[in-house]
Amino acid sequence: MIRRFLREFMAGRYGFDRLNFFLILLGFVISILFSVIRIFFGRLIYTSQGAYTAYALLSYISYIPYLIAVFRALSRNLEKRRREETAFMSVADRWISFFTKKLRQYKDKEHRYFSCPTCHRTLRVPKNRGRIKIDCPHCGRQFFKRT
Ligand SMILES: [Zn+2]
Repeated sequence: MIRRFLREFMAGRYGFDRLNFFLILLGFVISILFSVIRIFFGRLIYTSQGAYTAYALLSYISYIPYLIAVFRALSRNLEKRRREETAFMSVADRWISFFTKKLRQYKDKEHRYFSCPTCHRTLRVPKNRGRIKIDCPHCGRQFFKRT
């Protein structure tokens, strides 16, 4: 009964995707942030009615991502929602590869990583060799770094 209703209600609507998952996560993180603020700055918030009202109104920000996610899930403009998802994923992929790169560099205890001052490419050198001259193999720039 309820399942059939849901199926009919969602027919032709966009539904759930990774952007919506991200939006719900974002709303959750924002609401946690507001709880943390209340824990640490509670005395400031409760000093006056005005401060408390401002805090309460601001805390509604956490609902905005949820509302957008619900709007997107119920939307019948599938083409536009798919374009949003594609744009979101291309940004997300860039961030994910950036952080996996940083994590890999952090875990690497044998090398240090420097960015070439001229061409900005990442250069890997052995660790604990003192102050060494680094030759960038891409652009030929030479610079000194402590390893
Ligand atoms: Zn270079």
